[in-house]
Amino acid sequence: MLHFWRAPEAAFSPMSRLGPIVNPVKPMRVLLVEDERRIASFVRKGLTEQGFDVDACRDGDEAYLRATRQPYDVIVLDIMLPGRDGLSILRNLREQKNSVPVILLTARTELPERLEGLNLGADDYVTKPFYLEELIARIHAVARRASGDSLSVLQAGDLSVHLITRDVKRGQQPVELTPREFALLEYLMRAPGRVLTRTQILEHVWGYDFDPQTNLVDVYIQRVRKKIAPADEEDLIETVRGVGYRFRKT
Ligand code: CA
Repeated sequence: MLHFWRAPEAAFSPMSRLGPIVNPVKPMRVLLVEDERRIASFVRKGLTEQGFDVDACRDGDEAYLRATRQPYDVIVLDIMLPGRDGLSILRNLREQKNSVPVILLTARTELPERLEGLNLGADDYVTKPFYLEELIARIHAVARRASGDSLSVLQAGDLSVHLITRDVKRGQQPVELTPREFALLEYLMRAPGRVLTRTQILEHVWGYDFDPQTNLVDVYIQRVRKKIAPADEEDLIETVRGVGYRFRKT
């Protein structure tokens, strides 16, 4: 029996407290422009915990100055802001041939603004409310596109996980995962050799309020294990008794 729920207002999920997942290359610099404090602080905290180097500001004019003076890898940009609005910032940056990747934060009702933003040269958008995991995936994707970085595949032995196409393969065999299973596998694979507790996994992959007694993590781990090792392949996910799970270091 699964005891599991989420509060509707908690779609902005708290991330794990396990500290940064170390990016082997360098921390990505993100400028977060959002005037709604709750969203800004939640996103800032979540991105920082994931190893991003985050500058945050809530005013459009300040954001524009920062964006023109400092090299960011990605700008996460709200549209309605005090001072200069997000679309003006984007337009001005592109007029100056500044091609920094921009992800717009848009409300569901802001379809015209979203389209205008894409026409102005936004690289992507997320619609509020969003899951932090989605924003992070999009940040990685636009940064990869911008840098031509091909590090879009997580590999462990003969298991490969393509972060953009979401294709998963064990050897030549395709593996079908649900979005949640994919998020779980990606989380484990990003920290090979590190023990992740059930709580960390719950907070990261599910992100919102949950019953600490839930066996959700164990159930999903079993499913993912079976799917990535349908025959007698080596088990890549190790159980650390009484603690949690660890992705085998290959
Ligand atoms: Ca706003």
